[in-house]
Amino acid sequence: MFSASLPGPIFSVVNFALVNMNQKNQDKNKDHRYHRTGWLRAAVLGANDGIVSTASLIIGVTAAGTSLEDILLAGVAGLVAGAMSMAAGEYVSVSSQADTEKADIKLEQHHLSEDLEYELQELTEIYIHRGLDQSLARQVAKQLMAHDALGAHLRDELGINEHISARPLQAALASAGMFTLGALMPLAATIVVDASHIMQAVALSSLMALACLGALAAYLGGANITSGVLRVTFWGMLAMALTAVVGRLFGVMT
Ligand SMILES: [Zn+2]
Repeated sequence: MFSASLPGPIFSVVNFALVNMNQKNQDKNKDHRYHRTGWLRAAVLGANDGIVSTASLIIGVTAAGTSLEDILLAGVAGLVAGAMSMAAGEYVSVSSQADTEKADIKLEQHHLSEDLEYELQELTEIYIHRGLDQSLARQVAKQLMAHDALGAHLRDELGINEHISARPLQAALASAGMFTLGALMPLAATIVVDASHIMQAVALSSLMALACLGALAAYLGGANITSGVLRVTFWGMLAMALTAVVGRLFGVMT
């Protein structure tokens, strides 16, 4: 199924590289992928949006019979607007997540300063739930709290981990940058091909880029590559087909 979306030779190279890298890394990093999910999600989402929205925009205005100059103008405007919107959206959403974390940390600090014995009992019960017996759980809780009481509670009670705590600016830059990278793909296709083949070139290059993106994301996230590719290309195809129809209708009406 993967081979259906990529030309034969490209498929073989991509597939070989992916399988090869996979085998090399499998033993070492098998279960250390959660720390990638934050920026990986933002980056994949950004690139996916950049490709899909810009390609759809270009296909839509092209289907309406717009001049090349206006097609490019629409594409560039779409790139800037989309990148800014991604950055703003990501910043706001990750910031509010960071605010929630900060509030939780503050509250936990307050609890620890108010009633240490209660907090020790709380942590002990968490470890009992995870399978330790009463005395060992209390011993573990005691030692961890002596070492870093706040850290132990944040990690084991609230699930706040330093590595995955929210970084709004990093997320905003990652998604805006990836959106721009993605959007450049259909724009480049528009520029290099003959004006009469813009729609085909944009659709084909975008679907190939989406397939690679889906494969890369699935590989980095340790997920199934075929379903990663299908998921991403399906929505891209749907978006491009819909805007082509809308553009054609609008072109006929005006
Ligand atoms: Zn606590």
